[in-house]
Amino acid sequence: MLKVLKFGGTSMADANQYRKVRDIVRADPDRRVVVVSAAGKRFSDDNKITDLLYLCHAHLQYGVSFDSIFDTIRDRYLAIRDELGLKTDIESEFAALRKKMLGGISREELVSRGEYFSALLMAEFLGFDFIDATKWLFFHYDGTVDQEKSYPALKALVTDRGAVIPGFYGLMPDGKIRTLTRGGSDITGALAAAALDADVYENWTDVSGILMADPRIVDHPKTIERATYSELRQLSYSGAQVLHEMTVFPVREKNIPLNIRNTNDPDHPGTLISDEFVDRKNNQRFITGIAGKKDFSIVTISKKGMAGAVGTLRAIVEIFEDNAVPICYTPTGIDVISLVVPTEKLTPHLYTVTGELRAKIHPDSIKIADNIAIVAAVGRKMAYRAGTSGKIFAALGEQGINIRMISQGPDELNILVGVDEKDYAATIRVLYDAFVK
Ligand code: ASP
Repeated sequence: MLKVLKFGGTSMADANQYRKVRDIVRADPDRRVVVVSAAGKRFSDDNKITDLLYLCHAHLQYGVSFDSIFDTIRDRYLAIRDELGLKTDIESEFAALRKKMLGGISREELVSRGEYFSALLMAEFLGFDFIDATKWLFFHYDGTVDQEKSYPALKALVTDRGAVIPGFYGLMPDGKIRTLTRGGSDITGALAAAALDADVYENWTDVSGILMADPRIVDHPKTIERATYSELRQLSYSGAQVLHEMTVFPVREKNIPLNIRNTNDPDHPGTLISDEFVDRKNNQRFITGIAGKKDFSIVTISKKGMAGAVGTLRAIVEIFEDNAVPICYTPTGIDVISLVVPTEKLTPHLYTVTGELRAKIHPDSIKIADNIAIVAAVGRKMAYRAGTSGKIFAALGEQGINIRMISQGPDELNILVGVDEKDYAATIRVLYDAFVK
């Protein structure tokens, strides 16, 4: 059994957090590969090391002294090392880095150093091998990850002693360091788990998993205990703040479960995401989560006879495509179709789109409603449960919330309701109270 763990910035922020990480790793002998972020914030108005490194490079670029930022960064790592009684020669490493900076260093190489120092210290602290990301995480020239080369390379490097790997960066074919997008250590962790065919990818952060609703709207929402990768996709598409699908792609591809856990509350089981679950019979909750987004417009086109006509839908879609307006949802009725689109994408092309619709479709009417919010109730169990939509509409109706649009995904994984933005928070609360509480 092998578990690959990734610890985010707040888990690496100071010596005390390092101790928590060590305790978590030691609690389970299967936890043998650890991917780390750069030191993050210790308190809310603290700085993230990665941000400081970007700032440092900007100073360098414009010929402004970077000494004080550089020293702040070095001192954060020195403090961690000294408080933990470690021996890694951070001073020489930083001296060499300063020299390299003066000779010209790429922005990506400089910002990657946060993860590098975190991993060096954590490797010593855990007594694990340090495996630099440049030794195994290889990119193609187009910036995509070369999995064929990277996966065997990591496999060959990891031993029974355990390994700590810096997240966020890897090597380009020309030998230069390249970083992933911000937050990219999540991706490194997923790639490492996939490379090693891990049994689970544990993503340790500072929240106990994914919440069933936005905590700014619902008071202390419950944690999602289990979700499938498809539900995760629906939730993040619908606005929930969860790991991006791209992040989990390497583990999903290999059917490796992802467990989101809290370093500050290690006994909490967090959220487990997997391809499918055999759901316990006694688990009555059939909504996995509720998410939502604002700033949509609904374009409703009516035309007598449209339902039986050939090619009208294609012609409509083409007009939106030609104007680069993405279509998010398309609820239809008889002789009427609505297209739900992001307002900011529609606004600049509004007159062209409506003009072309009139010229090519000859509709009876085109109506546009702005300030629409879309709220999604997501749940894998909705498919075989009768009466879900009825319950949703009844709950919203009772609260006097007018539903402007409804749509159920053909996979029956979600039910979407479009409401006026003023009803957005109330809709989420009503659904949460009706299905979760
Ligand atoms: N340190 C990088 C960032 O702040 C990557 C990460 O933490 O995942 O974006």
